[in-house]
Amino acid sequence: MQRSQQPSFFDFTLDEMRKILFEKFQKKFRADQIFDWIYKKFEFNPANMHNISLADRTTLAEMFDFSVFKPTLVKESQDGTKKILFTLADKKQIETVFMPSNDRWTVCVSSQAGCGMGCKFCKTATMGFQRNLSTSEIIQQVLRVILDFKRPDNIVFMGMGEPLANYDNVVKAIQILVHQKALNFSWRSITVSTVGLEPKIRLFFEEKVPAQLAISLNASNQQVRSFLMPVSNKFSFEKIIETVKNLPLRRRQKIFIEYVLIDEMNADDIHLNELIEALKVVRERIKINLIPFNEFAESEFRRPSLKIINRWHKKLKENRFISTVRWSKGVDILGGCGQLATKRI
Ligand code: SAH
Repeated sequence: MQRSQQPSFFDFTLDEMRKILFEKFQKKFRADQIFDWIYKKFEFNPANMHNISLADRTTLAEMFDFSVFKPTLVKESQDGTKKILFTLADKKQIETVFMPSNDRWTVCVSSQAGCGMGCKFCKTATMGFQRNLSTSEIIQQVLRVILDFKRPDNIVFMGMGEPLANYDNVVKAIQILVHQKALNFSWRSITVSTVGLEPKIRLFFEEKVPAQLAISLNASNQQVRSFLMPVSNKFSFEKIIETVKNLPLRRRQKIFIEYVLIDEMNADDIHLNELIEALKVVRERIKINLIPFNEFAESEFRRPSLKIINRWHKKLKENRFISTVRWSKGVDILGGCGQLATKRI
């Protein structure tokens, strides 16, 4: 793969592009025209942008890299899920998952190569942190899925990495995803999932970033949480609940609380009762997603029995919490939550 000298076109929001191209061409609509070719018509070759003068087309091709990376490998699951491996210009590798659910398709994008959060139950953590992805590398994951498969209904930042640790690039990608003249997704169809970087969560709301938020809570108290998720030593269980209590939600908005159920670790009745007690104060503000643990070779953790999973679901409901059990897709190809990792090549 060749390393491009020019900046990628997909690194820029429409506002940024308007400024850059106005300075270059002194024409007001250049950026809007090119956004239309790229994000509406999926025409990536400036030579074919026939409503732009030939001279400007040549200049554009010199200014930006318009290429969308191609998969190194695509694995298909029995359930229709596709796990796509990309090799980046510096040889780092990331994965993107595209999965169906009752006719709706969700793309799960990575925000970092590897991850530095060190959660004990997550395979991506075993890679360690390699680097942040650029805005363009996030947008290209979505573009590649659109080009090779179809337009997704939902976009979730639940692949490799901690999105709020790559805040600026992720927020810029979201701006491109939601802009009417770019990919035009609704804020409700985009979800950013975080381990709970509290100051960044508050910033995310202060800045009214157009996306939903999911917090991976994964425990019913600080002790278990800090054992499973070292980040909890910095931003505690109590702090997370307090933050959720105070976030300025939009109309009908809920915060998603993710809870990975791990046998004999956080899935006993004591934990269930403790969680109900702890979350009572934010009951109306949240939706709880129970994620049965996905096993992988290096992990000693196990998934609890179906009986336990159903008990959690039922008891939360009885206590008037909105909750769903999220069975991961693509576990047979290690495409489920917490199963993404690439070997160093
Ligand atoms: N770093 C962010 C984004 C990744 S989302 C975050 O943690 O929220 C990945 C989700 O999968 C998180 O909710 C995480 O708790 C969950 N997860 C991690 N390992 C898992 C595993 N082995 N089985 C099931 N879910 C897992």
